[in-house]
Amino acid sequence: MNRIPDVSVYDEQRIMQIGCELLAAMHEHEAKQAFSATEKLMDWAMKDHGFKVQLFRFVDTLPTLHTSSQVYGYLADFLLQPEVHLPLGMATALKAGKIFRPAVAMTTRKQIEHMAKRFIAGMTANEILPVLEKQWEKQTAFSIDLLGEECLSEEETDAYRVRYLELVQQLSTATKSWKAQLILEEGMLANVPRTNLSLKISSLVTKADPMDFEGTLAKLDQAIKPILLQAVQCGALINFDMENYALKDLTIEFFKQCCEKYNFVAGIALQAYLRSAEDDAHNLIEFTKRTGRQITVRLVKGAYWDFEVINAQQMGWKIPVWMHKHETDACYERVADLLLTATPRDLSQGGIHLALGSHNVRSIASVLSTLESQGLPKNAIEMQMLYGMADSIKVAIIERGYRLREYVPVGEFLPGMAYLVRRLLENTSNESWLRAGDHERLPDNVLLESPHEILDLEHKRAKQ
Ligand SMILES: Cc1cc2nc3c(=O)[nH]c(=O)nc-3n(C[C@H](O)[C@H](O)[C@H](O)COP(=O)(O)OP(=O)(O)OC[C@H]3O[C@@H](n4cnc5c(N)ncnc54)[C@H](O)[C@@H]3O)c2cc1C
Repeated sequence: MNRIPDVSVYDEQRIMQIGCELLAAMHEHEAKQAFSATEKLMDWAMKDHGFKVQLFRFVDTLPTLHTSSQVYGYLADFLLQPEVHLPLGMATALKAGKIFRPAVAMTTRKQIEHMAKRFIAGMTANEILPVLEKQWEKQTAFSIDLLGEECLSEEETDAYRVRYLELVQQLSTATKSWKAQLILEEGMLANVPRTNLSLKISSLVTKADPMDFEGTLAKLDQAIKPILLQAVQCGALINFDMENYALKDLTIEFFKQCCEKYNFVAGIALQAYLRSAEDDAHNLIEFTKRTGRQITVRLVKGAYWDFEVINAQQMGWKIPVWMHKHETDACYERVADLLLTATPRDLSQGGIHLALGSHNVRSIASVLSTLESQGLPKNAIEMQMLYGMADSIKVAIIERGYRLREYVPVGEFLPGMAYLVRRLLENTSNESWLRAGDHERLPDNVLLESPHEILDLEHKRAKQ
């Protein structure tokens, strides 16, 4: 059921002001950026749906292809289809004689790897450390995401645990010698840890089974214990990512249990595309008030929208996500405001430190306007964005004195492809704010349109 909107709560004039300033700064930086080969490919994918679908299918398959004739064969199979309109150079290369096929295969592999490198920082801690330090110098902090999807064997979960432990240790040691960055390290009440790691509960145990709630909680506790003890020792923040809806309650419950058991710097992601998002936020707020614990909540919209819709339809379940983009956007602003009201005012109080995981300037401007109206300082919140995305917005945010953290994926090519495809889909989706703002350059008033006013209008129409 849609909540009845109260549009008067939002200071649209101030949101517009903040949003227009951010957009102007963003466009200024965009003008200085070169159009890379990856952008050209994504640009074509946005123009031609057939090309987009087949290209992303090919990207997903690529890590399993070992010879150049396999690469060429699959590429031709996927792309030489009647519904696909290819960029001219690509069409010519694909249709060229047999002798050119190895070169086409090699160029394609390189191009996709290049694309992956835009979103994935490297394979190992040694590889990513220089990247992270360079970003730190540019006033950008990090949260590391160890790439991979659900673990299916104990060897895999053991390997993950070892890598998490190594990462916490290596990053904490290496970052000690980095130069001080007040904007990144001074929180409203306390210092913000330099090392920040994001983990998924599905990578900790072979089967995170919500049907066996208590049994899974016990297995998860055993698996996470050494990681959290290490994090306590190093003073690192551990963030629990949010995965699909089926794991949501388990993740929140497990997170709360860990917060009570281990004294680590704790964070969790919440998804505003869920109809339950406000209840989830109340649940966490109540927990922090009851226990006196301070936690970070990273508010995102959610990365699995299509999956949740299709999965629920197939299973005959109630769809757990909002069905319209503006409903998600409105919910994001409502939940952000709710979480902001739970900002602790001193160290003795429990409460929430809000981290905004969004590249949408309207969503960001709305929260900044509430931050002002609640009389909270800039360092009461932090902005989080994905590595390799929305660079011009990041610059605009840093220039305005906000703490910015990038979510930085680390890992190998094969597990990285699912992540890459999610990012490519996000960048090229019809509903994406980045596509509208960055690619289509829609006017400011459209980009900053209030989702609450759209809901309000719908509500009035429905009553007529
Ligand atoms: C730092 C960081 C960490 C992240 N961690 C997580 C995580 O733990 N778990 C997770 O799931 N995601 C995570 N994400 C991914 C995140 O969910 C997406 O990047 C985000 O949804 C994009 O939102 P936006 O505000 O940038 O863009 P926008 O373009 O404003 O929003 C796009 C989003 O709107 C929603 N949407 C799209 N179509 C519809 C529709 N028809 N009806 C309703 N809603 C719709 C979807 O959630 C889609 O992703 C993270 C992102 C960041 C930046």
